[in-house]
Amino acid sequence: MGKIIAIANQKGGVGKTTTTINLGYSLSASGKKVLCVDMDPQSNMTSGFGIDDSSLNCTTYNILIEERNIKEALITLNEMNGISIVPSSIQLAGAEIELVPMLSREFRLKNSLKDIKDDYDFILIDCPPSLGLLTINALTAADSVLVPIQCEYYALEGLTQLMNTINLIKKNINHSLEIEGVVLTMFNARTNLSIQVVDEVKKYFKGKVYGTIIPRNIRLGEAPSFGKPISLYDPHSKGAEAYEELAKEIIERNGEAIE
Ligand code: ADP
Ligand code: MG
Repeated sequence: MGKIIAIANQKGGVGKTTTTINLGYSLSASGKKVLCVDMDPQSNMTSGFGIDDSSLNCTTYNILIEERNIKEALITLNEMNGISIVPSSIQLAGAEIELVPMLSREFRLKNSLKDIKDDYDFILIDCPPSLGLLTINALTAADSVLVPIQCEYYALEGLTQLMNTINLIKKNINHSLEIEGVVLTMFNARTNLSIQVVDEVKKYFKGKVYGTIIPRNIRLGEAPSFGKPISLYDPHSKGAEAYEELAKEIIERNGEAIE
């Protein structure tokens, strides 16, 4: 059975999209069947996989609002271990408001994923930087949440709000929702600040923090403009190594041997 993981943090620029693309790719490179779903109207995940969002006729917008079959939106990237993508487009910006009066508005993504869940080992959902209905759809559909936290000033700011939202969803909508883990991103070993943030986050989340820490790495910032995961753009970079390690850790935590 496929495991659905929402990559969420309502702060922008913490590494959600970078983590979705590169963790997704690294899981697929380990032989897992992977689907990555773009729930952000900015569609950075879509373009980061090299897909031009101006030419698409079915995206997360059509799935959520028009209840189109998710299979119509699926794009398979053969050159990337056959990873599947559900793309987004700027149209999705309207969905946050359009969903409000709709029936089963929190369950639309969950319902659409039902048919295809078993076709994958991992389904990663890239969330937008807000706690509105798009993120709520992701948290409702998910088995677990993976939270990226940037090693910067105010790293812990907003986390209480995020945890409150996760707990509300757990209590009212999705009782089995769990924290998959917390990944520290953009770590700079030369600053005391980065080291302090790691300590603070470990105190806050106890055993949930991954041993793998994603370093600040210029190549990670460049890869999206070439439409490639880091492991294809620069396989020997620190960024590529880190996301490959993270994928191994996640496979291990989920109780499976690594091929
Ligand atoms: P979010 O999806 O949370 O808004 P992104 O993944 O888009 O965050 O990251 C924000 C910006 O930082 C992007 O330009 C991305 O390329 C860059 N970035 C992300 N992770 C790293 C990293 N580890 N090192 C350097 N740049 C990074
Ligand atoms: Mg993003």
